[in-house]
Amino acid sequence: MQEYKKSQSEKSNHYKERYSVVVIGGGPAGLGAGLEAKKNGAESVLIIERDIVLGGILNQCIHAGFGLHEFKQELTGPEYAERFIEFVQNEDIDIMLNSTVINLSKDRLVTVVGPSGLNNIQADAVVLAMGCRERTAGAIALKGYRPSGVFSAGMAQRLMNIDGYCVGKEVVIYGSGDIGLIMARRMTLEGAKVKAVVEIMPFSSGLRRNIAQCLEDYDIPLYLSHNISEVHGKDRVTGVTISQIDSSFKEIEGTQKEFSCDTVLLSVGLIPENELSLKAGVPLNKITNGAIVDSTMQTESEGIFACGNVLHVHDIVDFVTRESRVAGKNAALFSQALQKGEQQKQRQKESSQIKTQAKKGIRYILPNKILQENPDGAGLFMRVDAIYKNAKIRIASGETILKEKRMKQMIPSEMINIPLKHDDLKDLKNDITAEVILNE
Ligand SMILES: Cc1cc2nc3c(=O)[nH]c(=O)nc-3n(C[C@H](O)[C@H](O)[C@H](O)COP(=O)(O)OP(=O)(O)OC[C@H]3O[C@@H](n4cnc5c(N)ncnc54)[C@H](O)[C@@H]3O)c2cc1C
Repeated sequence: MQEYKKSQSEKSNHYKERYSVVVIGGGPAGLGAGLEAKKNGAESVLIIERDIVLGGILNQCIHAGFGLHEFKQELTGPEYAERFIEFVQNEDIDIMLNSTVINLSKDRLVTVVGPSGLNNIQADAVVLAMGCRERTAGAIALKGYRPSGVFSAGMAQRLMNIDGYCVGKEVVIYGSGDIGLIMARRMTLEGAKVKAVVEIMPFSSGLRRNIAQCLEDYDIPLYLSHNISEVHGKDRVTGVTISQIDSSFKEIEGTQKEFSCDTVLLSVGLIPENELSLKAGVPLNKITNGAIVDSTMQTESEGIFACGNVLHVHDIVDFVTRESRVAGKNAALFSQALQKGEQQKQRQKESSQIKTQAKKGIRYILPNKILQENPDGAGLFMRVDAIYKNAKIRIASGETILKEKRMKQMIPSEMINIPLKHDDLKDLKNDITAEVILNE
């Protein structure tokens, strides 16, 4: 892990009572946002992180595969984080580690608990970058006693890659999200036997490259349209029963298979950490569980911006960085306008907004609104709702087709990013729609 240089404020444990921009979370989203806020003229920037180091989830992702877009290199998670930590440390940005934000008010008063006790910090603008957490056994009503040996995949990853414990010898993984796939390979490399990856959907919820590199390369079987119908064992897991399920998720009689194992890893979904957003009254989107944002990444609560996994769960960190730049830059601009008393003017300037709408085949689209004056650089992010082959995505506004992107295959686990330019948006009157077009 990186050699950490403490900032002056950390050394003296002395922080300001007011900051231009406060970023909550020191993962890649928070680091990117803090950096960009500073570069865009924010007078003072503070990044608050509850862990004892910066970098967020990247610190435990010791596999390669990060930074292909951003650095045109295949880096490990800690290497990617290290680059951004260095950029941040070269700027005049205050960092508060080992400190948890426990409240955020609508008018951007940030309450934080850390080594120096409880502090209230007033922010001109706030960037939410708290990431997400894993769904647990309770959330999916896993049947059986509650024996030891059931871990969420991310927790097992942290125990192995940061704390140095191997969590089991014979493993079944429930859910084929990326963390589960990565852990299938990781456990195999540590000498464990991964007997099966079990997925209730008819398709994997992980990236295709992870299916190939983490399962196929190691002959680990993937059971699609299957559930774990029971976990066996009272004190420690002794095995699982899996069943094939039909299209209404009912178990099909006679399809049961037993696997003996001492460990079950769950990779059954991630939930954006939006408790603070709710406390601040930030309206959330029911599908993404993240905030509703416009193209500057501003939420519906004035001066509160959001980016990264707290906004919607990302599969590629480079997109997190792209989004965080927009949030950081606009948080800085908001703070400057606030200081000059020109907030109203800025709002008026940005007043022509076009809504975005997910149509046929699209599960969700972000941002929810595009400011015609400020479409900004992150473009449209979307996910499809099923697998589509040889289809295209059409971005339109009424009868006007703005963009089309043809793809050999679209799958729900791979986020699609379509850039938009200011010129694309001139004179548009209707909502921007995204839909999957087949057979055309
Ligand atoms: C197992 C796994 C494998 C992955 N593999 C790849 C890959 O191969 N390639 C790739 O490009 N991407 C990969 N990703 C995706 C990428 O790493 C994530 O999308 C990215 O790390 C999300 O960044 P973030 O800053 O939004 O969240 P995080 O990295 O989770 O950071 C959020 C930070 O906020 C802090 N925080 C939360 N609440 C508070 C609070 N109240 N007060 C203070 N601090 C708080 C947390 O401690 C955390 O440090 C992977 C992700 C996982 C989980």
